[in-house]
Amino acid sequence: MTAMTWTVRVDPQLCLASGMCAGAAPDVFALDTEHARVLPEAIEPDERILDVADACPAQAITVHDGNAVIGPRRD
Ligand code: SF4
Repeated sequence: MTAMTWTVRVDPQLCLASGMCAGAAPDVFALDTEHARVLPEAIEPDERILDVADACPAQAITVHDGNAVIGPRRD
């Protein structure tokens, strides 16, 4: 059985290395010298990660549910 999962990406060209994401969700994000990276290949659906994507100052984080981009939320 497969559970529904989301995938999370950080665009290294956009990331400003603020560290906010890694501070808010260290299970999902790690901050390297230049930019953040995503640790798990997939996550369980998690509102918290949508909040982090919304709050990224560079809008570098995207959250994907299959082919749909569900975060950051635009409105
Ligand atoms: S919050 Fe955004 S800009 Fe800051 S480290 Fe994470 S991905 Fe990069």
